[in-house]
Amino acid sequence: MTKYREIHAPLRTIMTPGPVEADPRVLRAMATPILGQFDPEFTRMMNETMEMLRETFQTKNQWAFPVDGTSRSGIEAVLCSLIEPGDKVLVPIFGRFGHLLTEIAERSGAEVHLMECTWGEVFDQQAVIDEVKRVQPKIVAIVHGETSTGCMQPLDRIGPACRELGVLTVVDAVASIGGAPVEVDEWQLDAVIGGTQKCISVPSGMAPVTYNERVERILASRKKVERGVAQEGDRREVAHPIRSNYFDLSQLQDYWGPRRLNHHTEATSMLYALREGLRILLEEGLEERFERHRLHEKALMAGLRGMGLELFNDVPWKLPVVTCVKIPAGVDGESVRKMLLEQFGIEIASSFGPLHGQIWRIGTMGYSCRKENVLFVLAALEAVLIRHHAPITIGRGVQEALDAYERVQLGAVTL
Ligand SMILES: *Cc1c(COP(=O)(O)O)cnc(C)c1O
Repeated sequence: MTKYREIHAPLRTIMTPGPVEADPRVLRAMATPILGQFDPEFTRMMNETMEMLRETFQTKNQWAFPVDGTSRSGIEAVLCSLIEPGDKVLVPIFGRFGHLLTEIAERSGAEVHLMECTWGEVFDQQAVIDEVKRVQPKIVAIVHGETSTGCMQPLDRIGPACRELGVLTVVDAVASIGGAPVEVDEWQLDAVIGGTQKCISVPSGMAPVTYNERVERILASRKKVERGVAQEGDRREVAHPIRSNYFDLSQLQDYWGPRRLNHHTEATSMLYALREGLRILLEEGLEERFERHRLHEKALMAGLRGMGLELFNDVPWKLPVVTCVKIPAGVDGESVRKMLLEQFGIEIASSFGPLHGQIWRIGTMGYSCRKENVLFVLAALEAVLIRHHAPITIGRGVQEALDAYERVQLGAVTL
């Protein structure tokens, strides 16, 4: 007998920008028996995961594999593998995660140049291109879907312009991958990092990355192989080695590639989870999945507006998978969140920095992005806001959302 009982996690409705509800099929896959990391059955699954990642990232890149660790481990792996001390990195910041890119680039020894805009806005692509020409960095590191503000930075011109100028682009697509188009090849992005616990609906703990031969060339120039596993012809010393062993993409590549050179022990159960999450994603279809996210976004926005609430990110550059609501004057945002969780088992998010206490963020991501969840969060939010004496229009939230769903069913709306 011990005082600890078995885990008994309550079933929540998770409507945050991550982690979101895992698809039940993913949770089942995680209960699959462990295999050794060089078992041919397992390496086959690794290869299939790489294939499915290429499709998800819409790229022909040879390299697309997960780094073990949460999404920021992928960001850190890419940046620390590319940045040599003194390299110039330009970071356009439009929310919290631009600051994360800055932080990681600085720790990797970069000379970081910043551009900042007001939270809630994104950059005019030409302004970024002009700054790239002025600063002449080695790398532009930029967020695609900024979850802290619910905004999405267009990249279709920045990518090709950087390519022409010989500047590498590193993109944080952690929040957008699987929920909104991330066209790695079309936008000519050099390295892109995705996340699992957002629109792919897999638990947190892996960071899918992809990169092209431009990145690979830099990795090759800095590559040294761990002494304990090095063979004839492997370089053991190099002028500017990658500082991290764990996040060394050149070694991770040898582990994921045909050489299968031993590095870390692959996180078996997480690999099962990611493989299953990607399988489900591709079975649904990328376009169909993006459309589903837009459908529920529209219904949620209609419901929130119907209640008389004001949206913070009702802008052309809105991130479709995160809807930000201004907290009505006089209402304690944290008290509303607490009541939603305690009375209804629903989780929504607050925000960071200048937006803390100003907005709630409601995610409609992956498996959480379903009609019953949208209607439930609207109904519960109305009830909780009534108890907080907020001046809302009663009875219209769920109705407007139902109307939005009906309009789509009747084919009156093309998303
Ligand atoms: C969630 C998120 C991250 C960080 O992800 P972790 O898995 O917590 O490391 C990074 N960038 C963006 C845009 C995110 O939304």
